[in-house]
Amino acid sequence: ETNEAAKKETVKPPLLAGANVMNIILVAAECAPWSKTGGLGDVAGALPKALARRGHRVMVVAPMYGNYAELKESGVRKMYKVHGQDVEVSYFQAFIDGVDFVFIESHMFRHIENNIYGGQRLEILKRMVLFCKAAIEAYDASDPITFVSSQGNIPVLGCPPVEILQYVAQVPWYVPCGGVCYGDGNLVFVANDWHTALLPVYLRAYYRDNGLMNYARSVLVIHNMAHQGRGPIDDFSYVELPENYKDLFKFDDPIGGTHFNIFAAGLKTADRIVTVSHGYSWELKTSEGGWGLHGIISENDWKLKGIVNGIDEKEWSPQVDVHLTSDGYTHYSLETLKTGKPKCKAALQKELGLPVRENVPLIGFIGRLDDQKGVDLIAEAIPWMVDQDVQLVMLGTGRPDLEQLLRHFESQHHDKVRGWVGFSVKVAHRITAGADILLMPSRFEPCGLNQLYAMSYGTVPVVHAVGGLRDTVQPFDPYNESGLGWTFNKAESGRLIHALGNCLLTYREYRNSWEGIQRRGMTQDLSWDNAAQNYEEVLVAAKYHW
Ligand code: ADP
Repeated sequence: ETNEAAKKETVKPPLLAGANVMNIILVAAECAPWSKTGGLGDVAGALPKALARRGHRVMVVAPMYGNYAELKESGVRKMYKVHGQDVEVSYFQAFIDGVDFVFIESHMFRHIENNIYGGQRLEILKRMVLFCKAAIEAYDASDPITFVSSQGNIPVLGCPPVEILQYVAQVPWYVPCGGVCYGDGNLVFVANDWHTALLPVYLRAYYRDNGLMNYARSVLVIHNMAHQGRGPIDDFSYVELPENYKDLFKFDDPIGGTHFNIFAAGLKTADRIVTVSHGYSWELKTSEGGWGLHGIISENDWKLKGIVNGIDEKEWSPQVDVHLTSDGYTHYSLETLKTGKPKCKAALQKELGLPVRENVPLIGFIGRLDDQKGVDLIAEAIPWMVDQDVQLVMLGTGRPDLEQLLRHFESQHHDKVRGWVGFSVKVAHRITAGADILLMPSRFEPCGLNQLYAMSYGTVPVVHAVGGLRDTVQPFDPYNESGLGWTFNKAESGRLIHALGNCLLTYREYRNSWEGIQRRGMTQDLSWDNAAQNYEEVLVAAKYHW
């Protein structure tokens, strides 16, 4: 085990000099594969690795919701005040693929892995307060041997000299994971969604206002604006900030009244804002798409940028997908598409207990069952669908009435429809590989990952042209033989049926066009490397242009 650890140390990326090498700490409430409820978890697991590949020093900080294998306990314990109570946390750590993953352990996070955002509003708020406070100060002092000062990147072997220790003593938030001190010289925090939107505020109130961490910057990424950390204005007492910070949190609800809003405060305070697509960044500035925060977004437009998420190609690629190695599934690529994908389709049909037929279009849906994902539009289209010669599989969890609906469709149309209620990464991968068509009729979709995964597996998306779906799925144009799928412009079942009808026609009658769509989808570069380069620009801008 010690050998393993030593090996990991040696593959740590070299400490590069140069102004643009950043110390990046990404802070997120979920991080795949340890914790994941949706796209945020995928991003937190993959973007940091892509940034590390570009030569940056990258740390991810997430709460520890369960017992995660392969983590080292750092031995560091700290106390934080949460609504007047002292709460102890300890820090766990793993160094994987060039990234320091740091997990914050506390009784407040334990055993909620299946319900990360569940519970009473104030309980959730307290968890996020603790998480943000602890994340800013995340560090692992387990290895003080190789010490690299944050100022000037001077490597100091052995124990840090006294003057540096003094410096460190004033700045306890240095992060010497595995012996490298992150320091605040080129430090940028990347916070994600309302859960960590307090972090930019704490950075200012607790540190910058006191002449500390003067060089650290913060970027806030909007993955989903539908959740904002709203509450009555009295919630301010829970975030433990000086009174003069109260106004930042005030939010005049268009429906009436002044509320407390954590996302609003984070957006105002962060040095830069990123949203997960261009389409979504535009929609957020409109009164229909901004969830009440369009004014704040518009005022801060100068620091806003849309960057489409990438794909973690180790997890999601038909050539290496670990979920395609058994039960009749197989790996495939552009070269073996014509044999490999039908094999996966047959395996999926078999696994689902559907008739194993190569030429029946198999339509998939994967996602959270809620208003956002447009499950009700699919429900309205089901009578039309089951009149066709098609098969449909829907995988999801969420609202109990929608879960019930899935079960209902399966029992009504057992020869054609499967409604798989559950959260299964394996089944999600297998549907992505085995289906011909993926439906995403989302009402709004900040980025959407499933359509990206689908395209890279040669599965053709049919989507509502909104947010990231509009950015990433260019509609098929039969005259030019271009495009990647079918889109429709209004969240209505009639439009969905129309688009799906055209899609099915092409599937049945125009096999060359179909294969062209599949191939174009599979040859796109959807890797995180592109997105990471764009993130890097934002991080550098946060650092140098403010
Ligand atoms: P969102 O973040 O809004 O939930 P995304 O499309 O960005 O939507 O990401 C959803 C992620 O969660 C994808 O990786 C998808 O495969 C996964 N996912 C959603 N529902 C399920 C489920 N029931 N089982 C397995 N994975 C799921």
